[in-house]
Amino acid sequence: MIERSLVIVKPDGVERALVGEILKRFENAGLKIIGIKMVWIDKKFAETHYAAHKSKPFFKELVEFITEGPVVAFAVEGVHAVDNSRRLVGDTSPHEAAPGTIRGDFAHISMAYASKKGLGGKNVVHASGSKKEADEEIKLWFKKDELHSYTTVHEKHVF
Ligand code: UDP
Ligand code: MG
Repeated sequence: MIERSLVIVKPDGVERALVGEILKRFENAGLKIIGIKMVWIDKKFAETHYAAHKSKPFFKELVEFITEGPVVAFAVEGVHAVDNSRRLVGDTSPHEAAPGTIRGDFAHISMAYASKKGLGGKNVVHASGSKKEADEEIKLWFKKDELHSYTTVHEKHVF
């Protein structure tokens, strides 16, 4: 099943110069980058992206964190792209994310600690949580003509 998913290198990931490392992991896994941009989103856009979390106690900190610097958003396409992206990213709280995942390898602060300090959970990266979320997020972040269709040299071997 070919799906699309949205990935965001969050401000902590951009500031720690992890963009290349993160892109590489998606490319290595056979997920095709079909759109990519650097954006410094404003509060309103962040609140739309994280609308599902509006009632959560960490919402304000989350919006502050995601708007504190530029992010790199990219859309990927591939077999089970949603689940496979989540597996590359790892569990939400860095202390639960397995080694080998992006969060397990590069993030350190647990969500519980971040909440106690009134900080947004700095976990380096976002990936859509479901197919529905992916479709909505890609529509929010990318115009139709910013997404591209092409064949990679690897596709013949991946499929
Ligand atoms: N978050 C937070 N505190 C929490 C839970 C989540 O600051 O207790 C932040 C964290 O940056 C997380 C984002 O809110 O990535 C969205 O939460 P979600 O549960 O959707 O996790 P994700 O889908 O990113 O793994
Ligand atoms: Mg989520």
